[in-house]
Amino acid sequence: MTLKPLNDLQIHAIDQAHIWHPYSSLSQPLPTYHVTSAHGIRLTLGDGRELIDGMSSWWCTIHGYNHPQLNAAVITQVEKMSHVMFGGIIHEPAAQLTQRLVDMTPEPLSKVFFSDSGSVSVEIAIKMALQFWQAKGRAEKNRLLSLRKGYHGDTFAAMSVCDPETGMHHLFNKVLQQQIFSESPRCRFGEDWQQDYLADFERQLSTHKDQVAAVILEPIVQGAGGMWFYSPDYLEGVRTLCDKHDVLLIADEIATGFGRTGKLFACEWAGISPDIMCVGKSLTGGYMSLAATLCNDKVAAGIGESEAGVFMHGPTFMANPLACAVATASIDLLLASDWQGNVARIEAQLAEQLAPCKTYDTVADVRVLGAIGVVEMKDFVDVAALQKRFVDAGVWIRPFAKMIYVMPAFNIEAADLSKLTAAIVAVLSC
Ligand SMILES: *Cc1c(COP(=O)(O)O)cnc(C)c1O
Repeated sequence: MTLKPLNDLQIHAIDQAHIWHPYSSLSQPLPTYHVTSAHGIRLTLGDGRELIDGMSSWWCTIHGYNHPQLNAAVITQVEKMSHVMFGGIIHEPAAQLTQRLVDMTPEPLSKVFFSDSGSVSVEIAIKMALQFWQAKGRAEKNRLLSLRKGYHGDTFAAMSVCDPETGMHHLFNKVLQQQIFSESPRCRFGEDWQQDYLADFERQLSTHKDQVAAVILEPIVQGAGGMWFYSPDYLEGVRTLCDKHDVLLIADEIATGFGRTGKLFACEWAGISPDIMCVGKSLTGGYMSLAATLCNDKVAAGIGESEAGVFMHGPTFMANPLACAVATASIDLLLASDWQGNVARIEAQLAEQLAPCKTYDTVADVRVLGAIGVVEMKDFVDVAALQKRFVDAGVWIRPFAKMIYVMPAFNIEAADLSKLTAAIVAVLSC
C-alpha cells in the first residue's frame, strides 16, 4: 500500500476548494504557501525555495524545526504507546512532565491539569475559578476582570475575556458572558512607573469585587491583541490588589512561557505567583498540541470542597503521552541550553537592527523585549501583499493588523537573524 503523492498544484487545488485557514474565507481565499519540510529555522517551499522563519510557528518552535532530541523523544514514545485514556490511568510521560512543570513554575503552583490547546486551558482556568467560589458559598463571584488589548483564545469563555473591540464581541455579543474590562496597561516596559497607572484597574476591581471570580491577564506581554510590553510594576500591583479584594489571579503564559521574554515565565519579572496559570504553545517545542493549567493548593482544595466535589473537566486526549514526552524533552533541552544568553543576544540584535524603522513615516513604534521584535505601523497592513514581499525576500514573517513582528527560535544564528531584520527594514523602506 503506497500513498500516491500529490503535486504542488493538486495540493493548492484541494486547499482552495475545501480548507479553512486561521481567520480565512473560503469564498475569497488568500494565497497560501506550500511548505514541504522544515529544519532548524528554515522552511522549505514546494518550489524549492528556503525561507528563514521569523514566527516560530506562532511562538511555538523555540528550538527550531526537526530537532534531533525532540524527534528522538517522539520516536521512543510512539514505539511504547501513542495514547491511552487518562481516566483512571497514569503514565511516566505525564509524571515526568508534571514534575518539571511544578519545579520550574513560580511557587506555590503545584497542581496540573492537562488539555489540548491554549484556548481550552483558559476555559479550564476560568472554570477552576468559578468552582472555587461556588465552594466558598460565593457563587455570585462569577465574572472575570480582564484587560483591554488582551488575547486569550477563540473558544467562548476565552473570547469573552479578549479585547472587547478588536476581539469578536460584536459578532457574538448575545451569547458571550459579559465581563469587566480595565484599560490596557499604559506603562511601557522599562519606563518610569507612576502609581496612577493602576488607577483604572483598581477602580474596576474595587467596584466589582463582589462579582469578580478572577482577574485574567497576559503577564508583561499582551500578544495577539496588540504586541504590547508593559511594566512589571503593574503586574505586581495587580497581584497586591487581587489579594486585597479577595479575587483570584489567572496568568495566561501561553505565549510568554518557557523563556520568550528573558525569564522562564513572565510573572518572574514582577516576582509574583498567580493562583492559576496557563501554559501552551512552546510547551512541546512546537511539536504537538498540548497545554496545561496549573493552580496552587488553595484553589485545588477549594474545588475539592465544591458541590461537585471534583473538577468538572476531562478531555479525551488529556495528557497525551506523545505530547508529554516531547514536552519533557523540550524543557530539558531548554534548561540545558544557555537560553538566557541566547534570548539576551537576540534582544540586543533586534533592538539595534530594527531601530532604523523608527525613522519611517509609516511606522508608529518599534519595541523589543526578549526574543520578540515588533514594528507597529500607523495603518493596517495588507497582509497578503506584505507576506509575498517577505517570501520574495527569503523570510517567513506574517504580519497582522498594524503589527510586523518576529519571535525567532532561541538558537537562531546572528547572520540569519540579520536576514530577518534586513528584510523588514528593506520592505518598509519602499
Ligand atoms: C495563542 C494564545 C492562546 C490560545 O491558544 P490556542 O492554542 O491557539 O488555543 C491563549 N492565550 C494566549 C496569550 C495566546 O497567545
